[in-house]
Amino acid sequence: MVRYINVRSKSRIEFIDVTGMLQETVKEAGIKDSVCYLYVPHTTAGIIINEGADPSVQRDIQNTLSRLVPQDMNYFHREGNADAHIKSALVGTSLNVIIDGGKLLLGTWQSIFFCEFDGPRHRRIAVKFI
Ligand code: ZN
Repeated sequence: MVRYINVRSKSRIEFIDVTGMLQETVKEAGIKDSVCYLYVPHTTAGIIINEGADPSVQRDIQNTLSRLVPQDMNYFHREGNADAHIKSALVGTSLNVIIDGGKLLLGTWQSIFFCEFDGPRHRRIAVKFI
């Protein structure tokens, strides 16, 4: 069984903390000890684990990615979102998280972020307990 977390981005580039929603999904599923596989089925979005305590870390990651991969370059892909495809490829579209005693095993400062690179859009994250 695959479960889904729905997210709605409001900006072109935005990181959305989905840690609480995922923990709720784990609780609803009654999962105690497992591995949770997270998969983003989109070509211009991604998912990361990183610092959740200081929001400026997210901005630094976003700004650095945008510096590395500017929106307007001579890309072959003419849809206007080539940079978003490249950013998705760089951060990746899947993660594994250990579930221990019904809780996501994360470090003190870690959160799980859905990464929007071509919003605003409705998006979803597939969740599979292994
Ligand atoms: Zn495209």
